[in-house]
Amino acid sequence: MNRVYTFIICCILSLQLHAQEKPTVIASCSMIADMCKNICGDILAVDMIVPVGGDPHIYEPTPSDARKVSSGDIVFINGLTFEGWIGDLIENAASKAPVVTVTEGIEPIRSDKYQNSADPHAWMDLELAQTYILNIKDALVALYPKYENEFEQNYQRYQKQIKDLDQYILSEVKKIDQQKRVLITSHDAFAYYGKRYGIQLEALMGISTESDARTSDIIRVSRIIKERKVPAIFIESTINPKLIKQISDDSGAKIGGELFADSLGEEDSDADTYINMLKHNTDVIVGALSRGEIQETKIDADDQSQNWLLYGLLALLLIGGLLFMASRINKT
Ligand SMILES: [Zn+2]
Repeated sequence: MNRVYTFIICCILSLQLHAQEKPTVIASCSMIADMCKNICGDILAVDMIVPVGGDPHIYEPTPSDARKVSSGDIVFINGLTFEGWIGDLIENAASKAPVVTVTEGIEPIRSDKYQNSADPHAWMDLELAQTYILNIKDALVALYPKYENEFEQNYQRYQKQIKDLDQYILSEVKKIDQQKRVLITSHDAFAYYGKRYGIQLEALMGISTESDARTSDIIRVSRIIKERKVPAIFIESTINPKLIKQISDDSGAKIGGELFADSLGEEDSDADTYINMLKHNTDVIVGALSRGEIQETKIDADDQSQNWLLYGLLALLLIGGLLFMASRINKT
């Protein structure tokens, strides 16, 4: 039996050593990490800085992130002020690795809410995602020319998947009545999506999650729900859903489901890859706005668990009180 254990441990150690031998690609966020994995295949290791579920707008890097960056061979970032903290992190890591901005060549949407700021969420448009993956492929070929054929083949295959999904979304969104093509979410992450696929965007916050929603934004969104008879509004995986829930309670618009904007979903979710994330968002949006389908969302479950906890505590207090009274009656 001991031999079996020794064999298994040796296998794991050799696998780890093998993994460490591979050059490492570092991506700032999960969407870019997934794109890199699709282009690299098994040739390079891919790691990311902001973990799945984290909010890259307000992320605070840790010392282990600095170590991660300093051990990376190439770093991919979104740019357009998405990762405001990345410059300091790279400087602290004293990394000599090339830093590639994957939005290079994209004409960004300017935000009318905040002057002189570019909207960073260009990955929400699958046509622009072609620029992302081309920049990734070109940078990898420049750094590792001996793998050019492999990178090129992976790129071609991935590009086809992205084009197919782009066509799918274009045709799916047309199923929503023109009047109800309004997407109401927490922060303004869907402007590129709306522009490409023909949906009007109404967000509570601006293009970053750093600012809080103002009362005027809440009134504006509530008025649109009423005027356009919007059947559903949406929460986002990386943002506290409290405000969206409050607007849903006040306006009667249902919470259509959870959308993923600034992070992929967990591995067991149907938004675990960049492609799956965009498909998930589209299916949730089209389902809720065209067919009134409502997805079970986490906030309901959380609320229920909190309720059960409260009921449990009340029951304990009641039983305790009854026992105390019973003991007093027995004594008298
Ligand atoms: Zn965002």
